[in-house]
This record gives sequence, structure tokens and C-alpha cells, in this order.
Amino acid sequence: MSLPAAITDGLVSILGASAVLTQPEDIIPYGFDGTAALRQTPGAVIFPKTTDEVARCVQFAALRSLPIVTRGAGTGLSGGSVPGAGSLVLCLAQMNAILDVDARNLTLRAQPGVVTLAIDEAAARHGLFYPPDPGSMRVSTIGGNVAENSGGLRGLKYGVTRDYVMALEVVLPDGRVARFGSPCVKDVAGYSMKDLFIGSEGTLGIITEVLLRLVPRPPARRTMLAVYDRIEDAADTVSAIIAARIIPCTLEFLDRMTAVCVEEFAHVGLPTDCAAVLLMETDGHPAAVADEADRMMLIAREHGARDVRAARDEAEALALASARRNAFSALARRRPTTILEDFTVPRSELATMVSFIAETARAANLQVGTFGHMGDGNLHPTFLTDERDADEMARVHHALDLIARKTLELRGTITGEHGVGLAKKAWLREQMGDSSFDVMKQVKRALDPAGLLNPGKIFD
Ligand SMILES: Cc1cc2nc3c(=O)[nH]c(=O)nc-3n(C[C@H](O)[C@H](O)[C@H](O)COP(=O)(O)OP(=O)(O)OC[C@H]3O[C@@H](n4cnc5c(N)ncnc54)[C@H](O)[C@@H]3O)c2cc1C
Repeated sequence: MSLPAAITDGLVSILGASAVLTQPEDIIPYGFDGTAALRQTPGAVIFPKTTDEVARCVQFAALRSLPIVTRGAGTGLSGGSVPGAGSLVLCLAQMNAILDVDARNLTLRAQPGVVTLAIDEAAARHGLFYPPDPGSMRVSTIGGNVAENSGGLRGLKYGVTRDYVMALEVVLPDGRVARFGSPCVKDVAGYSMKDLFIGSEGTLGIITEVLLRLVPRPPARRTMLAVYDRIEDAADTVSAIIAARIIPCTLEFLDRMTAVCVEEFAHVGLPTDCAAVLLMETDGHPAAVADEADRMMLIAREHGARDVRAARDEAEALALASARRNAFSALARRRPTTILEDFTVPRSELATMVSFIAETARAANLQVGTFGHMGDGNLHPTFLTDERDADEMARVHHALDLIARKTLELRGTITGEHGVGLAKKAWLREQMGDSSFDVMKQVKRALDPAGLLNPGKIFD
């Protein structure tokens, strides 16, 4: 549904003609994200370049009750940036400047459209480190990361995006510009409002600037691979490493299907005849890294790994980590439709959950590959299917429902990092309980009474 000319003309008068897309062939790519089987052509797409332009567009839309869907790079996996019919997509990809790296205060200030990897590369030029590393970091934007509170492979040791956000500039649903947080390491003035906007999935405000905390770059790193014939042994290794008071930066799990697909895709020497692979990484002071790496490899052997080895050099370590980051793309080559979930359970329940996913898929005659951030209890069961096959899709949705309910039964969460968006709304009230769910809706109503920012996401 295209927007009336009076609206698009108004947007052109604010942004200029080159920053407003209205032709079907131009706007179709902004109608979907990384989530399977969800797409809707927007009414128009706009590309503001400054906070002032964002605020003026939001005021303009608010006066005309026009819904806005904020978009970064569109790599989301819960349908967060999929527009409603006739919505205005506000894409921040052109607000992509790193504004400042302050090496004395260990901070970095950026516009929201900066690609995540570029943040860490800018930090690295000062000997500093921005740890959150979602698998999509070569494409995703920092604004999208904050809006989803994204995690990554290093989450176990370093935490998630929220742990690095010191302050935000936000355009509110009525067009006002607000700043939350500060460059101070400690700041308890007022409610912690920035935390309300982190993970709010574009439903409460549009993030137009971020101030990020950086940390010293770890001087040493060691990457290891452990291969298992039983998935339970891989899960036990993770528990034993943590019980041994070692906090590695990465403990990534790949089941056999994922290992096979990744190996076919990346040729990094992963075994294809095993039940599971653990990719382990420790970083920090060289002496601590050497000690932890030895202990982790010993623990893996003691817990049934049939083969354990350390990467020969930095090139192999990088190849292994990037092969893991490509797990989604590698699995996606198998079938036309890839449905990737991110159910998360307490770590003690990992073996139960991995087995339940495999059994559920087997019973429904479905192909699934499971990988994930095992150190965080965060699993990505990935169904390989075909959205044109209605019967198979019905079985996939039933299997996902069973897995979601098992997750809740095990005190887990329906999403560890991808957000609720459109894809996980059905289970949110059940996970949160009525009171918490209603408070969340009250917050949305208080900030966005007309419901114009990303309507229909998180809840109806
Ligand atoms: C191959 C692959 C691997 C992935 N790996 C991971 C992973 O390891 N960890 C992880 O957490 N996620 C992962 N993701 C999911 C996704 O990359 C993240 O959610 C990412 O943060 C989305 O960033 P984006 O710029 O693409 O945002 P988009 O997809 O464009 O938007 C995501 C949501 O954020 C909102 N939004 C975007 N920008 C803003 C803004 N400036 N202000 C307000 N709201 C905004 C949108 O409205 C939407 O609701 C992966 C995705 C893919 C395709």
C-alpha cells in the first residue's frame, strides 16, 4: 500500500528527494529481515542523516498518525524491522559515522547506523576492545544491536550489548529528542532510563546516538576444538569448565548437522562424523590464557571428548571463529527456508534441551541443526524447511511450540538475544506472567500512546 503523495512530498521537503524511496522495486528489499516467511512491502522508505532530520520526520508522521518502523541493517531474526502494510520505514544506515573515540575515558560515540565490526575495528586502532560480537557483526548496525540488546560469541565472559552502553540519544514517538545515561562510570541520577530503551526493539524510541564503553584489548588468546560422540558429553564439559571457575570468552556448540554444513561451506577441518563439536576460546594475560587453555583441554578429555586440539596459529583461530559465525548461512544452503530460533535455558538443562529438540524434530520428520552459545545456555535450533510446503510448515510450527513450552518448563526464555518482534509474541505472556506483561504494555502506552512506533511488535 503506497503512501499518499501529500505524505511523500512532505517527507521529500524534509529530507530531499534522494532520501525518500517510494517505487515498488526500490522498497521491496525493506519489507523483510533475516526472519523466514515474514514480509510486507512498506509504504515508503526514508534515510535521515541527522538527529534533527529523524525528529522532524517523526513529528511529521505523528501529526498524520503514520506508523514508523525503524530499521538498521535488517539482519534481525524475530521480524522486528518487518513493516506493517503502508508503514513508513525509517532506515538509519546512512547515519553511520563514528563521532569520537576517547582513549582517556575508554569510550566511543557513534551514530546508530555504524556496522558493529567497524566499532571494534575503531577501538582496536587505540588498543581497545568492543567485545559484543553477534554472528552478524559484519552487517548489523550498532543501533540494531542496542535495540535488540544483542549478544555474541564472547557473551559468556564479556556480557551483551547492554553491558557496554553508557548513554543514548533517543528520538521519542512525539519527536522530542532525549538523552539518557552519561559518560560517568557511576551515575544513579533518576531512573535508569537508558536501560528501558536497550532491547526495546524500536517500540519506544529511535536511537540516534550511542556512547559505548570500551575495555583494554586482551593481549593473548587461544582457540581450541573438542570433538564428541555424545552431545551430553559436550554439555557436561561446559558445566565442568564453569564449575572449575574458568570463564572462557567463548564456548560454542555445533551439532553434527551444523558441523557438516559448516565444513561443506567453509572447509576449516571440522569433523563430520561426530555428534557435537565445542569451539572454545580463552583470552587475557598470556600466562592465564596458557593455564586456562591447558585446563580446558584436560576437562574436555576427562568428559569424553574423543579429540581435543588447539588452533595452530592466529589464522586457524580466526578461520574457526568465522566458520562458526557462518553457521546460519551454511545451514541455509540446505533447504529453501531456514527458521532459526534462540531458546535459552539454565546451563544445567542444556543436555535435556538439546536432546528434546532432536527428538521433537525426529518425531515430526523435520530437519534441524542446533548450534549456539552453549556457555550462555543459548541454543539456536535451526529448522531447514520449505515455506511453500504447508504441511511441513505446520509441523515446524508445532515443533517450535513444543520446544518453546519445554523451554519455559525448564525455567528458560523464548529468546536469549534475537528479541520477541513478531515471531515470538505468542509465548511472551506465558513467560512473563500477567502482571509483568501488563506493566510492559503500560510503559509502551505511556511513551507511545498512539502506538505509532513499530506497532504490533513484542505484543499486539
Ligand atoms: C547470520 C546472522 C547471525 C546472527 N547472529 C546473532 C548473534 O550472534 N547474536 C544476536 O544477538 N543476534 C544475532 N543475529 C540477529 C541480528 O543480527 C541482531 O538482532 C542485530 O542486532 C540486528 O541489527 P540490525 O542493524 O540488522 O537491526 P534490524 O534487523 O534492522 O532491526 C532489529 C530491531 O531493532 C530495531 N532498530 C534497529 N535500529 C534501531 C534504532 N537505531 N533505534 C531503535 N530501534 C532500532 C528495529 O525496529 C527492529 O525491531 C544474527 C542474524 C543473522 C542474520
